[in-house]
Amino acid sequence: MIPPAWQQRLQQQAGRRRALGRDRAIRPAAGIDVCSNDYLGLRRDARLAEAAAAAARAFGTGTGAARLLRGSTALHEELEGALAQWKGTEACLLFNTGFQANATLIPALVGSGDAVFSDALNHASLVDGCRLTRAGGAHLGIYRHRDQEDLERQLTAWRTAASPGALALVATDAVFSMDGDAADLPALVELCERHGALLLIDEAHATGLLGSSGAGLAQQQGVHGRVPLVMGTLGKALGSFGAFICCGDLMRDHLVNTARGFIFSTALPPPSVGAALAAVRIAQAEPWRQEKALALADRLRSGLGQLPHPSAIVPVPLGPDAEAVRLAALLQARGFDVRAVRPPTVPEGSARLRLTTGAHLEAAQVDALLAALREALKD
Ligand code: PMP
Repeated sequence: MIPPAWQQRLQQQAGRRRALGRDRAIRPAAGIDVCSNDYLGLRRDARLAEAAAAAARAFGTGTGAARLLRGSTALHEELEGALAQWKGTEACLLFNTGFQANATLIPALVGSGDAVFSDALNHASLVDGCRLTRAGGAHLGIYRHRDQEDLERQLTAWRTAASPGALALVATDAVFSMDGDAADLPALVELCERHGALLLIDEAHATGLLGSSGAGLAQQQGVHGRVPLVMGTLGKALGSFGAFICCGDLMRDHLVNTARGFIFSTALPPPSVGAALAAVRIAQAEPWRQEKALALADRLRSGLGQLPHPSAIVPVPLGPDAEAVRLAALLQARGFDVRAVRPPTVPEGSARLRLTTGAHLEAAQVDALLAALREALKD
């Protein structure tokens, strides 16, 4: 029984209740996926399914323990090796989710008296990592979205007042999840190197999709291997589940021993690890997937009269919640699996459709989506 006072609080907070994804789709089986993060179209690839099954047969369906107990397998290490090589770093450490990685890695690094600086539009998991850090006595500076000058001003002001041994970390999404715009990584690398700050980038929406070998935005922007902490996820372009941090050996050792989301959580199941390993190889061997997803995003963007962006995320800004919900329903009725994105996922008054493209789509489907969108917007 929930006590009445709690019942009342839950009811008060239900004003903007969102339904689970599947619930909102009118024809979930038939809907054309233009809203997931399956950028390379690998989620249903038979080779990933086979790799997952083989991993289950060889290592079991679950690991039964955290990596520091007996949850570590040769497959986990093989995936870490493949990811480090891809991202151009010495080492890599798997985490169970991107959320867990971001939320627990920042507090594992930034202590009392230190500082963390975070882009105003960073993903919720980075935000929570920063909040935990602040609760631990660190300074938290939120700088204006993609504004290096504001970041530098804040870093300089903090340094003037900080104690001599205090350290700073800067955290940013590489590709921002709701707008699809990108951070200026060369500028951030330069700024952080100049200020002795540690840079953490979240390549959840860039891994597999951007760069000459799909390694991510750092590769695309020419700072491959120069970012000390590169986080990425396995559940988006790589069609599996889980996350990782690519970094140096010393950093990996530190995280193994201090990141609570790593230490106190059962290791990733072998099928997820096996599928991710297959996906990393396919992503590099089949660059057409990356090229197709990005070309379709360009097609969609130009059809909407938007400027080019280096990602497969195409937002359609609408403003009021009701308008986003109405449009999503209209498009769903025409067979497109589109969802309204509303606050608190995006700032108040900026509800939108968040469209995405992937290698599973065809140009004709994107054109049909554009036609349906134009018609719905005319209404
Ligand atoms: N960072 C970003 C930028 C994301 O978009 C997401 C997923 N929405 C995450 C982190 C969290 O990753 P995961 O889904 O693996 O928890």
